[in-house]
Amino acid sequence: MFEEIETDLLIIGSGVAGAYGALLASSMGARVMLVTKTELVSGSTQWAQGGIAFPDGRDDIPSHLEDTLRAGRGLSDPTVTREILGESLEHLALLKELGMDFDPELALEGGHSRPRVKHIGGDRSGLFLLKFLHSKLIGRITSLERHFVVGLRAAEDESVMGAWAFGPNQELIKITAASVVLATGGSGQLFSVTTNPPEATGDGIVLALKAGATIRNIELAQFHPTALMDGSLISEACRGEGAILLNKNGERFMTRYDPLGELAPRDVVARAVINEERSSGGVFLDLRPVGDLANSFPTVYASCVDLGLNPLSSPVPISPAAHYQMGGVSTDSHGRTTVAGLFAAGEVASTGLHGANRLASNSLLEGLVMGARAARTALKELEVPGHCDDAPPFVGGLDLYLRPQIQQIMTSCASVLRNGVEIQDGRRRLNLFESFETSLPSEVETLNLLEVGKLVLSGALARQESRGAHYREDFDHLSSIAFHVDQTKDSISLVPFGI
Ligand SMILES: Cc1cc2nc3c(=O)[nH]c(=O)nc-3n(C[C@H](O)[C@H](O)[C@H](O)COP(=O)(O)OP(=O)(O)OC[C@H]3O[C@@H](n4cnc5c(N)ncnc54)[C@H](O)[C@@H]3O)c2cc1C
Repeated sequence: MFEEIETDLLIIGSGVAGAYGALLASSMGARVMLVTKTELVSGSTQWAQGGIAFPDGRDDIPSHLEDTLRAGRGLSDPTVTREILGESLEHLALLKELGMDFDPELALEGGHSRPRVKHIGGDRSGLFLLKFLHSKLIGRITSLERHFVVGLRAAEDESVMGAWAFGPNQELIKITAASVVLATGGSGQLFSVTTNPPEATGDGIVLALKAGATIRNIELAQFHPTALMDGSLISEACRGEGAILLNKNGERFMTRYDPLGELAPRDVVARAVINEERSSGGVFLDLRPVGDLANSFPTVYASCVDLGLNPLSSPVPISPAAHYQMGGVSTDSHGRTTVAGLFAAGEVASTGLHGANRLASNSLLEGLVMGARAARTALKELEVPGHCDDAPPFVGGLDLYLRPQIQQIMTSCASVLRNGVEIQDGRRRLNLFESFETSLPSEVETLNLLEVGKLVLSGALARQESRGAHYREDFDHLSSIAFHVDQTKDSISLVPFGI
C-alpha cells in the first residue's frame, strides 16, 4: 500500500528555479506542490556567492547578450538568450516590489565587459534570495520536504502525469499531477572535487531520460577555476576586485593565456591553472589586493580560515573544481521538454542560454526567468491527467561506497582536459558496475551518478572538438560547424546548430 496525493502542478526541486516558479504559479489559481529531497532551502542556489547578472537596464541588453554569446562559443542560442535577458528585468522589478533588498554596488565578474552583477547580502546572494522566496511561499502552496522522487509516471499516451517518491521513512508515495516541472539542479557530485552540495547527483537527468526526454550537451561541464582543496568556491568576484593568480614560482601568468587576464572566461582560466599546476607544481590566488576581504567576502574568508589558511597574509592554494552542468534536459524557450506534460528549468535544463561555457552569474538569472516561464506555461497548458494504472516502479540503486570510485573515474577521464583514450577507458570501467533493487535514496543517487556519468562520457566521446569548457587534447580545435549532442534512452546524435 502507498499514500496517494493529487495536485495540478508538481514542481520537483526547491532551489531558485523551483521556488520562483512555484511563487509565480501560486498566483494562477491552481494547486501547486513543491517537492524536495532535502530541506526547502537547499541545492546549489543557497551556495551562490557571486550574485545575479541582470542586465543593467534595457540599454545594457546588447552588451550582456554579446558577452553571453562570446562565452558560449557558438552554442548559445541568440534568440533564447535575448528573450531571457529581456524578460529578466520584469522579474528584477517584481522581486524589488516584493521587498527583495539588492546591494547598491554592481560587481564585475569574469567574461562580463562591465560591472552588472547584483549581490544580495554580499557573497551570500543565493542564500538570501532563496530564504526570501521561501518566505513568500508560506501558505500559498503545498511543500513536501525530504521526499525523494525516484520515477516519473506516464499516461497511456506517454505524457508525464506525476511521480513516485520515497517519503521521509522510505515509504513509496504516488503523486498524480497534470504537469510536472523538473527543477532538480545539477550533477557536480560526479567528480571528486566539486563546489556543489551533496544533493547535486543528476537525478532529474535520469528521471527525464527514463521518461523518454532528450538530453542535450550533457558532456559540457564547467569547472570553476578557483576552488580550495575541499571544493569551497572562491568567487570570480574576488578576481573582479583585484585578486591575482600566481604559479608556484610566484609569477602572475594569466595575461600569457588571455588579454583579459584573471577575468578571462572560466574555461580559459581553468585550463591555464591546470597548465601552470603541471609546469610549476601549484597555483595560488592572492586575495590581498581585495579590500576588506573579511567583510566584503565573508564566506570566502571563512572557507580559507576553516582550512587553516590566512588569505590576509599570503596567497592561498587553489585548483579547478566541478561547478556547473551546461547541458541537461533539452527544452524550448518556455521550458517544454520533448515529452508532453514534462517541463524543466534551472540547472537541470538545457535551454540554449549557456552554450559551451556559462557566463558567470547567468544561472540564477536563468533559474528565475525559466522557472517562471516553465511553471506558467505548464499551468496554461494544463490538461486533465491521462489514464494511468501504473504499479510501483522497480527502483534501482548502487552501493554508496562505490560513489568515490565513480567520482575518481570521472575525474581522471572527463575533467578540464580530456582525450578519447581516457574517455573510452572510463566508459569501460563504468559499465562494470551492477545495480540492484533498493529503497535507500543514497543508493538511488549513486546509480543516478553512474547513469549521468555514462551520458557525459558518451557525449564527450562524440564531441570530437574543443569548444568552451569541453577540451579534447586529441581534437584541440573548434569544429567548423557547431552542433549539439542529443542523447535519448537508446540513441545519440549530432545535431548541427546555427546554420
Ligand atoms: C558554490 C556555488 C556558487 C555559485 N555561485 C553562483 C553565482 O554567484 N551566480 C549564479 O548565477 N550562479 C551561481 N552558481 C550556480 C547556481 O547556484 C546554480 O546553477 C543554481 O542555483 C541552480 O538552481 P536550481 O534551482 O536549478 O537547482 P538547485 O538550487 O541545485 O536545487 C535543486 C533542488 O532539487 C532537489 N532535488 C534534486 N533531486 C531531487 C529528487 N530526486 N527528488 C526531490 N528533490 C530533488 C534538491 O534537493 C534541491 O532542492 C553557484 C553554484 C555553486 C555550487
